[in-house]
Amino acid sequence: MQKKARLVGSLAYKKLRYTNNHPLRIPRVSLLIELLKAMELIEEKELVESREARWEELRLFHDEEYLRALEECDRCMCVKKDYRERFNIGNYENPVSPAMWKGSLLATGSSVQAVELFLEGHIAFNPAGGMHHAYKDRANGFCFINDPGIVLQYLLEKGFKRVLYIDLDAHHCDGVQDFFYQEDRVFVFSIHQSPTYAFPFKRGFWEERGEGKGKGYNLNIPLPKGVNDSEFLFVLESLLPLIAQAYKPEVYVLQLGTDTLKEDYLSKFELSNWGFLKAFDLVREVLGEGIYLGGGGYHPIALARAWSLIWCRMSNRDIPKGLTPLAREVLSSVDFEELEEEDRSYMLDGLLDRPREGEIRSEVREIVERAKAEFC
Ligand SMILES: [Zn+2]
Repeated sequence: MQKKARLVGSLAYKKLRYTNNHPLRIPRVSLLIELLKAMELIEEKELVESREARWEELRLFHDEEYLRALEECDRCMCVKKDYRERFNIGNYENPVSPAMWKGSLLATGSSVQAVELFLEGHIAFNPAGGMHHAYKDRANGFCFINDPGIVLQYLLEKGFKRVLYIDLDAHHCDGVQDFFYQEDRVFVFSIHQSPTYAFPFKRGFWEERGEGKGKGYNLNIPLPKGVNDSEFLFVLESLLPLIAQAYKPEVYVLQLGTDTLKEDYLSKFELSNWGFLKAFDLVREVLGEGIYLGGGGYHPIALARAWSLIWCRMSNRDIPKGLTPLAREVLSSVDFEELEEEDRSYMLDGLLDRPREGEIRSEVREIVERAKAEFC
């Protein structure tokens, strides 16, 4: 059967936003869909409407008490003091808003849909997924429901015994790592900003290699500030083939946060979307098709452009040279204030950036060498 690409998404996210002062208040999935439509890069039948996650799906990862608390807070759009302390909700980081419960349910249901579609032989991408910071019993790092964790559990329930999770977000996947830390049926591989200077600060160090039977099944590559395309791709192309060879994954889940891009003001990496796309190509070259999830990304235009490239690749479309007038209108009408003075008008010229290649610094080479030695 010929594999067909499917984008799991919804315009319903427009009404399920974070609070006004939050980095995730921006349009993301809806903007991507509108951009793809304005560029004539997607057909109606390729778009699968998101559904909410079911209770039993949420319970694959999360504690009942925590879920009940989220539900209760959603009903009143308020939070008890006790919940704020126990579950880390109702603060600036993880505010009570329609995104908290209803938005998370939709994003999580979509990740399960992406797995179902994949298992039916499709190629599926849920850009709303990849909320990798949530813990089983508390919110963390803007994330309430850990959809990657849920889909990994879902795959284990389906009988898979070697599942690879690859996390390319600029931030370490602490919620996922913690849950599978003693598990050898899930290999967690993350490339991210070093926690010495970036969130989540307490997790994501090289030394965290897993515990018990999970020992050796967790690999963190923390990197310095200013990582360029060449460095990021060097890490990935040096290590992914070794992981694939040693672990022989039956299936993989790929988190595609776009906060590695230079335009993103919440991270210190400096990738172009050319490098981001190349990373995606590299993963598929080594492992074939997987299950694709979104992730972080706080610059709406950079994010929509980058994910539109992912969609072009997985749906086997050429990347258009310019933007249609309608696409330019869609992007330029986004309500978002640039924090940096740099000229970013190039983002309205086309979808694909120029590469941001550069020197591969010795500290990047060193950690790669150290990781390679683990596979000898
Ligand atoms: Zn991130």
